[in-house]
Amino acid sequence: MGDKLQIDLDDFMTRLIGRNPGETEFHQAVHEVAGTVIPYINENPKYIHSRILERMTEPDRTIIFRVCWEDDTGRIHVNRGYRVQFSNAIGPYKGGIRFHPSVNLSILKFLGFEQTFKNSLTTLPMGSGKGGADFDPKGKSEREVMRFCQAFMTELSQHIGPNVDIPAGDIGVGTREISFMFGQYKRLFNEFTGVLTGKALEYGGSLIRKEATGYGCAYFMEEMLKHKGGDLKGKVCVVSGSGNVALYTAEKLIQLDAKVVTLSDSSGFIHDPDGLNEEKMAYIIELKTFKRGRISEYAKEFKCKFYPDKKPWGIPCDLAFPCATQNEIDEKDAKTLVKNGCQAVAEGANMPTLAEAVEVFHDAQILYAPGKASNAGGVAVSGMEMTQNTMHMAWGQEDVDLQLRGIMSDIHQQCINFGAEEGYINYVKGANLAGFKKVANAMLAYGVV
Ligand code: NDP
Repeated sequence: MGDKLQIDLDDFMTRLIGRNPGETEFHQAVHEVAGTVIPYINENPKYIHSRILERMTEPDRTIIFRVCWEDDTGRIHVNRGYRVQFSNAIGPYKGGIRFHPSVNLSILKFLGFEQTFKNSLTTLPMGSGKGGADFDPKGKSEREVMRFCQAFMTELSQHIGPNVDIPAGDIGVGTREISFMFGQYKRLFNEFTGVLTGKALEYGGSLIRKEATGYGCAYFMEEMLKHKGGDLKGKVCVVSGSGNVALYTAEKLIQLDAKVVTLSDSSGFIHDPDGLNEEKMAYIIELKTFKRGRISEYAKEFKCKFYPDKKPWGIPCDLAFPCATQNEIDEKDAKTLVKNGCQAVAEGANMPTLAEAVEVFHDAQILYAPGKASNAGGVAVSGMEMTQNTMHMAWGQEDVDLQLRGIMSDIHQQCINFGAEEGYINYVKGANLAGFKKVANAMLAYGVV
């Protein structure tokens, strides 16, 4: 780029890849954003002079640490812990913690980068971050998970705080893990403070936080359909995953009269053509959240089909909700969805759709909401949890749900404001530009920092 008043996407990406070799997920996330914001930046040279995009793609700080813990047999294990404090331009660092064997710096940088835009879209004052460890909670005893969480927090606690960095949950980190980590922070600092969100209700958690990402995703889909004159009634929905996000996406879709016919986990998916209902939801929430069982048990219980090692995208549907993990819809899956008549996709997971698959959705002009817009409900209610903690108050269920619905509708409107094209809403462009502008302007205001 030099000092000329234009940024070239290929040139920008070549330099980014050179500075961050091997971090393919991070490259993928930046490429998607850069492709939509560079044309805008080129029309607004103030962002070029100040090298805003270069600064936005370099985390404020990356902390990597050793986590040592002992299993039930007395064997010692060594894991690697991370916290990527991406940007505190518009508020303290905020973003989840992931425990999964696949966790590495690339994945956490992509998640932290995405979080910058997502948090900006929520309209709440939250910066971005992401953390985690290559620890696998699967198959570990309660005590082992506790010891790991305590060891992890012993180091992490030195880098976070209620006005500095407020982590939450993500894959492999639910209320149980947040509770262990919160307990350890409290013990280390002798301080009861809102340093984590996603806490249980008994000690400072917010109503609807657990459900928020999924509920928000369903609300966002409802907004997209409404904008086109449609609704959720009777729509056949294919949902992937059976974790926190997938389960509460499904629950809200059912409450809004849609028909959810699939769920999955890393061992395969179930297809229940009759659709899930309240009773089936109660079973699966108990199975996945408390018994930590496998999705195939649902098929046995309700006499439907289980497809081992398969993804659910071949099941004909009106609406699709990828809610498991990154890169779970490839080009072939996208083509199958379109061919089978899918009208809209709302991402509950972060970056579940590969770039080539996004192109398929855009070419087919079906509604497509990127996670940074459609899954922002979780962090939005985390923001509300922070406010309630600061005020030493607990808001009622209806109040939080109403605010969540309002925020999802507001994010949808921002996507329209920035993403409207000839006869089509480009939600990727809308979310990226709206998210970018707020953070970029804050960075400009601070001068060179
Ligand atoms: P959970 O750990 O609760 O659930 C994850 C689900 O995805 C499980 O069903 C898991 O199956 C499945 N899964 C995980 N990895 C893979 C894989 N490699 N292949 C196939 N299936 C997989 O996580 P969450 O529901 O919290 O998170 C799901 C997604 O939503 C993630 O992308 C996360 O970043 C995103 N997200 C989460 C938010 C939150 O508030 N929790 C907020 C915004 C986004 P199994 O049990 O077999 O591992």
